[in-house]
Amino acid sequence: MGLVSTIADTLTDDATDPDAVGYLCRDCDTSFERSGNRMIRMRCPDCGSADLGVRDGN
Ligand SMILES: [Zn+2]
Repeated sequence: MGLVSTIADTLTDDATDPDAVGYLCRDCDTSFERSGNRMIRMRCPDCGSADLGVRDGN
């Protein structure tokens, strides 16, 4: 658990958000993070695709 938290903190270097979820765009391979809300439809900030995978670090 401690190790996972350390990795998550490293990936999220601009904001220490414990609810941040990592996403990976299947169209352009862009990875990004958004905090918490999985209920809304997420889109890739780079190409606008909604074909995203969730990188669940847990
Ligand atoms: Zn994309």
